[in-house]
Amino acid sequence: MSKLAELSRLLESKVIVSADITEDDINGADIFQLAALVGDYFSNSQGIKLLDKQLLSKIISELNEEKMPKEIEIAQGAGFEPLAKEMRIKYSYVNSRIEPVGSSASDFVAHFNDRFQKLKKIITSTRTLAATDIANISQYMTGREVSVIGMVYDKKTTKNGHVLVTLEDPTGSINVLFAKPDAQLHTQFQAEASALYRSATKIARDDVIAVRGKLSKGLLIASFFTWPDVPIHARKQSEDDFAIALISDVHVGHKLFLDKQFSKMLQWLNGTIDYKKDLAKKVKFAVFCGDIADGIGVYPGQEKELIIKDIYAQYAMFFELLKAIPDYIEVFVLPGNHDAVRRAEPQPELDRELAKYNTGNIHLVTNPAMLNLEDIKLLAYHGTSLDSIIANVPGNAYAKPEDAMVELLKRRHLSPIFGENPIVPSRDDELVISDVPDILLMGHIHKNGAIDYHGTLVVNSGTWQARTAFQVKQGHMPTPAILPVYEAKQRTLNLLDFNSIT
Ligand code: FE
Ligand code: ZN
Repeated sequence: MSKLAELSRLLESKVIVSADITEDDINGADIFQLAALVGDYFSNSQGIKLLDKQLLSKIISELNEEKMPKEIEIAQGAGFEPLAKEMRIKYSYVNSRIEPVGSSASDFVAHFNDRFQKLKKIITSTRTLAATDIANISQYMTGREVSVIGMVYDKKTTKNGHVLVTLEDPTGSINVLFAKPDAQLHTQFQAEASALYRSATKIARDDVIAVRGKLSKGLLIASFFTWPDVPIHARKQSEDDFAIALISDVHVGHKLFLDKQFSKMLQWLNGTIDYKKDLAKKVKFAVFCGDIADGIGVYPGQEKELIIKDIYAQYAMFFELLKAIPDYIEVFVLPGNHDAVRRAEPQPELDRELAKYNTGNIHLVTNPAMLNLEDIKLLAYHGTSLDSIIANVPGNAYAKPEDAMVELLKRRHLSPIFGENPIVPSRDDELVISDVPDILLMGHIHKNGAIDYHGTLVVNSGTWQARTAFQVKQGHMPTPAILPVYEAKQRTLNLLDFNSIT
């Protein structure tokens, strides 16, 4: 259908479209918005409703005006001499490989096989562990101690409270029992057994784990297990004194996007605010960790919460805001579940067209992406899978996103539980955390949180959106407008609160 015919259809012949209006006249306009505005215009009028050329151009210019992002002019602060401007810091990034979405059974088999082999390698590379193929276990006698590495097919709690896990490897499957500690045990053994049992309750479907235990009638009674995990390491310290601003979940286009606080943050980067100026001078990198725009049609009824109902206008506004970031700061932007790219992960970069007016310091990257900032490895992932970790791994909550992030780090996988958060079954599982990052950055939860885990700094960068009706309903308390800034030389994380700065 032509756009013109579509417009007439949307107007339900209540409005007559003048015959001299051509396809060119409405080209470039959002047809649904146009119909809504035309409908509005005639809503109180009686008699013949004629949409003529003059009226159409008036309505279209209104439409375009609404699309226009607000101009923001931020001058650099007087006497602000940013050290970062003179710094030459080498940087690079590694995008995830983006394969087309296949969904045949063989794609998934290949995908999970690749994941299993990679995680198995991580487990065995740091431990002495003589793992046996599961198919070979049947030849062993009861009482014999064996080790296996497998993927969790199923996990349940028996009526006596034991944790029973079905573990698979490419050769077969076996049931593993994590016994509930016996109250009769000697205290020392009691503590050990309790620790093992407690961690076993956190095992989730599709986890790859190594288990050691004794065979008993075809069942493996576990005495030890481990996720692939990250070894304890020293976080890289950089020689240059620069800082990284960690930002996420801006949600431009939503009514509750905190534009005032966000502008304050941009002003801070420019040295026009009397607040931690020495830190502002050092900012050399900024990472936007997804949910840039609020998007459209992300959930039912979302349009009622939008202030900008056009997806292009949302991004135009975002990239317009980004122009206020000084050009010596390298900016990385990755998509999240609200953004205008495919939902299945890894997600491709945002369309270059959206950022066409920006200069060369804006880098559109995939979700996830590995950023190398001098010698610091920063793994950035939006964090959509944190929902399934919080729902499925006991002890996790929206109030502590950093704990759920540690669960991902232990599993060495960014979206381990299959089925809740769509993934692309690529033959090479790009969501495996192959390299141990110095910084693991996520967003999505809209709650700041940070913890050092085995030397990796785990950071959730919060949000620039106020508490939504949905979050009120869920009882979730977000922490808007708090900016984490990492100092690479000192290895310290600062939290800057832009809620009260005037
Ligand atoms: Fe978000
Ligand atoms: Zn999100």
